[in-house]
Amino acid sequence: MSNTDTKSVSIAPTRYDLHTHSLRSDGTLTPADLVTRAQAAGVEVLALTDHDVTDGLEEARATAVSLGMRLVSGVEISVTWQGQTVHIVGLNIDPEAAVLQQGLARLREFRQWRAVEIGRRLQKKRIEGAYEGARRLAKGDIVSRTHFARFLVEQGYVRGMQQAFNQFLSSGKPGHVPGQWAALEEAAGWIRSAGGQAVVAHPARYKLSAGKLQRLFGEFRECGGEAIEVISGSHPPEAAQHFARIAAEDGFLASAGSDFHDPEKTWMDLGRLPALPAGCVPVWRDWWPNAECGVRNAECESAAVAPFIPNSALRTPH
Ligand code: AMP
Ligand code: MN
Ligand code: MN
Ligand code: MN
Repeated sequence: MSNTDTKSVSIAPTRYDLHTHSLRSDGTLTPADLVTRAQAAGVEVLALTDHDVTDGLEEARATAVSLGMRLVSGVEISVTWQGQTVHIVGLNIDPEAAVLQQGLARLREFRQWRAVEIGRRLQKKRIEGAYEGARRLAKGDIVSRTHFARFLVEQGYVRGMQQAFNQFLSSGKPGHVPGQWAALEEAAGWIRSAGGQAVVAHPARYKLSAGKLQRLFGEFRECGGEAIEVISGSHPPEAAQHFARIAAEDGFLASAGSDFHDPEKTWMDLGRLPALPAGCVPVWRDWWPNAECGVRNAECESAAVAPFIPNSALRTPH
């Protein structure tokens, strides 16, 4: 249960980035370019965690294999919890798992309906062609509010992404469509059934009261959730200590991710994450059964690029 195991894996904690997006959801890079950029920035273990979709993993995996880099199969699932949207990251999922894919397909169906509805609502504000515009800017299957924001910027309705959200797309604004994403227990269940670990993404972003956040974490644990993002590129720096303390008190593993979307406009670029604060137990603690197996160790080459290591197999060795 100590951090010494992690140190002997010979990957510095700052070399993990376990939350990133490609253009298969609302990022701007192809999965291949994302992996290449991450490696160039010094990331050694990268999770691709697109919103509600896993179809970028194959391309990302191929590039990671060719670069000798570790890729973690991930996803970021949209959840509605007590009327609010919360994001749950799944790490080391088996992307083939049927229950997970059925769940994600349902969310994408809602997403598609919602996109048309956002377009309809923006039209009432005399913004024409928003759905078509967002659809055009989306390079993958899903249309996100990010694509609507890019459309509004492109067409000059707003000066920047922030204004697009503040004026049109955030909760309570004319282009916001409240709706039902997955339930918390569904998202955690899908991830677990796919052999993955469930992580509460960027907890500081939800602006929940301390009590409500505690309830979220409590329910998350009851659903089998294991980790919270202590380090997020979308958090203010002071959040790290705060969530490190909560993780330690509540017995959660700690994760770290940039939430990278775009080299230009992003929460944070790749390769710039600070280390987890002292006292955190990293979510990757048990990922590699052979603690001596570093990414640069030729003997461990196949482990370094193994497509999928079920966590269940790692945790119950026999
Ligand atoms: P959706 O899942 O379609 O509702 O879109 C949510 C996405 O919008 C998030 O994953 C962020 O990438 C992006 N987003 C949310 N709020 C903002 C904001 N204030 N500024 C820029 N991007 C945002
Ligand atoms: Mn996003
Ligand atoms: Mn998110
Ligand atoms: Mn994200």
